Amino acid sequence: QADMAMYRAKAAGRDTLRFFDPQMQVEVSSRAALATSLRQGLEHGEFLLHYQSQVDGAGQVTGAEGLLRWQHPQRGLLQPADFIRLAEETATILPLGRWVLEMACTELAAWSERPETAELTLAINISALQFHHPDFVEQVLAAVERHGCNPKRLKLEITENLLLEDRDAMIAKMSMLKERGISFALDDFGTGYSSLTDLGRLPLKELKIDLSFVRDLVTNANDAAIARTIIGLGDTFALDVIAEGVETEAQRDWLAEHGCRAFQGYLFGRPGPAATSATRLDA
Ligand code: C2E
Ligand code: MG
Ligand code: MG
Ligand code: MG
Repeated sequence: QADMAMYRAKAAGRDTLRFFDPQMQVEVSSRAALATSLRQGLEHGEFLLHYQSQVDGAGQVTGAEGLLRWQHPQRGLLQPADFIRLAEETATILPLGRWVLEMACTELAAWSERPETAELTLAINISALQFHHPDFVEQVLAAVERHGCNPKRLKLEITENLLLEDRDAMIAKMSMLKERGISFALDDFGTGYSSLTDLGRLPLKELKIDLSFVRDLVTNANDAAIARTIIGLGDTFALDVIAEGVETEAQRDWLAEHGCRAFQGYLFGRPGPAATSATRLDA
């Protein structure tokens, strides 16, 4: 806890007075407590995946994205915004990410048992720390094999902040997984650091238009221009493009008119637990 307090004091610059701010003491101790309960929560099976449908231009469900949730014994159901950052800062994201991978492969194996769900893809989010771990490729391949799921149905969503590291090493890792049938999507696209060179070189399958551009694209010319550009980049580099955060018919129609053929958002379904999602996926 002392380490954490020191860190925060430094982060606040030379303003050491803040160190003694009672409000901050509370914040620091609740952060430390949260970090401990993250690890315990994982041991106690308090994490779960919610699934959100992804649909094609005809509104047919083609797959889902698995989104992490934490059923906290005191605080209730927590969203990634409440704990992912801390999990990354404390490296708890490593065992947590392995758990997500296991869960996703379990779910995919179950889907493959039924004709109505056998063709669906499942996307999961991979944090930078997890991707750059030396055992990452091995972990993914081992999980896929252990559960006997079709690697072609598994999509890994990475973000542009991964690209701050050595490109060649990254491409090598991604290629090894791609050779085995696993595909990559670039999540939150348009908000980070990727260059046109990256789009040509990285073994990607899909770009995800960040929801911040989708929100106002019908009324905001700037956001519309960005969305149009991303769809164009997809054409140029032969990448699928999916829009995330689609909430209205107007957004969906605009995107479809401009050549986007895959969608995810509240308009098509909110993230929900497996049972609900399976029912919805069957519909
Ligand atoms: P993301 O991967 O970009 O996921 C999309 C987020 O948008 C999800 O938030 C989803 O619930 C939300 N969303 C979906 N449709 C709509 C919509 O129509 N409108 C709006 N306003 N929002 C929509 P969520 O579940 O809170 O996840 C937030 C972020 O946390 C994710 O962003 C992802 O970066 C991260 N995350 C989630 N699960 C995992 C995980 O298993 N591992 C890692 N490393 N990160 C995860
Ligand atoms: Mg995602
Ligand atoms: Mg996203
Ligand atoms: Mg996002």
